Amino acid sequence: MNAFLEPQAPSISDSDPLAISNSDPLAPSSSSQLAEGSQPSGKIDLLNFDRQELAEELQARLGFESYRSKQLVAWLYRHRATSFEVMTNISKQARAALAEHFTISRPTAVQVQQSRDGTRKYLFQLDDGNMVESVLIKQTARYTLCVSSQVGCAIGCRFCRTAQMGLVRHLKTAEIIGQVLAVKDDIAGLPLDQDGLKVDFTNIVFMGMGEPLHNVDNVIRTVRLLNDELGLDFSSRKITVSTSGLVPAIRKLGASGAGANLAVSLNATTNEVRTRIMPITKRWPLESLLEALREYPLKRGKRITIEYVMLAGVTDTVDDLRRLPQLLTGIPVKVNLIPYNANAGLGFDAPRRDWVFHWQESLLDAGLNSTIRWSKGDDIDAACGQLATVYEKTKRREKAERQQPQGGIGTPERTIAEAS
Ligand code: SF4
Repeated sequence: MNAFLEPQAPSISDSDPLAISNSDPLAPSSSSQLAEGSQPSGKIDLLNFDRQELAEELQARLGFESYRSKQLVAWLYRHRATSFEVMTNISKQARAALAEHFTISRPTAVQVQQSRDGTRKYLFQLDDGNMVESVLIKQTARYTLCVSSQVGCAIGCRFCRTAQMGLVRHLKTAEIIGQVLAVKDDIAGLPLDQDGLKVDFTNIVFMGMGEPLHNVDNVIRTVRLLNDELGLDFSSRKITVSTSGLVPAIRKLGASGAGANLAVSLNATTNEVRTRIMPITKRWPLESLLEALREYPLKRGKRITIEYVMLAGVTDTVDDLRRLPQLLTGIPVKVNLIPYNANAGLGFDAPRRDWVFHWQESLLDAGLNSTIRWSKGDDIDAACGQLATVYEKTKRREKAERQQPQGGIGTPERTIAEAS
């Protein structure tokens, strides 16, 4: 069975989006690390714990003192160790005990695509065979890594290809932070890029496959790991968690104190249009979403990013442009305009370039900090969910061809399309 085509959990339903039950597809995740962290070997993946949890786990299982968790965080994240043998400041006896109980995982990169514009896209295979994507995005003077938080997504945004998969499952903490580590491993030996820039990322965004705040506990834990100064040491200014508007989880993220920026995918100025393109609006209408943003605890000088996908004639009308600043009054925001990429083939049109610039100027005139995010990696499968979908289609085609007498395409290999 193809997990991408046969989702195991339903998407939010138009007919009953407010239903709350035990099988509620939009109930935020609540995870037991022990249950989640166990591998088929019975060993526990160390990447599922933040430093505090790691100290508690090591104390409970092995009687280790808390300084061991500091050593391990440095080895796991700063040195990206994948075996215990290399941890030379830990005694042989302690390493043997660790190896007996714990493991250190990495997702497997089954495909890497390199775009002419410098963007580099990864398709990772997880232990259960599911696939997720990460994208290393080249910007003017830096790289940003975009990571996935779920396999598929339950939210059902009409302009998004991932939505067509439905939700397959949440990613474990190890599978989210594992994307960061695996990309670091991959780019470690690369030469400077064509602009003389070191190929390494300074920023991380949770904007890949999935709704991060549907998997809020594991995303908060991942943010804590990214923040840890003994490990990867990303400051809160460099991490952004994006959401379609799961109001209770926005409040939970705010209350957690996790060091990350918040981005909200707003994309419309009326409940009617937003419900059409983002059915989650029926569950949490614009009023409750904006109230949660007004009450979101922000550090001094920080702003919430409002993502606004411009769908020609749907979300970018003259009335939308008039209403947007009114809706955002009193909320410290910056607006990121995202002209829709019509290549996605989901029945929407891209806005005209001059209209996008007009929007930006008008928002600036209205006192709103406003930027435009043009799509990257146009020569590769760059929209979220696109690479996994293409890969699955290719696998099915290969399987069909293998069943033909003259078939016989080999197993998928890690491929790098050279920039030309
Ligand atoms: S845009 Fe984001 S939240 Fe909406 S369906 Fe796609 S992955 Fe899910």
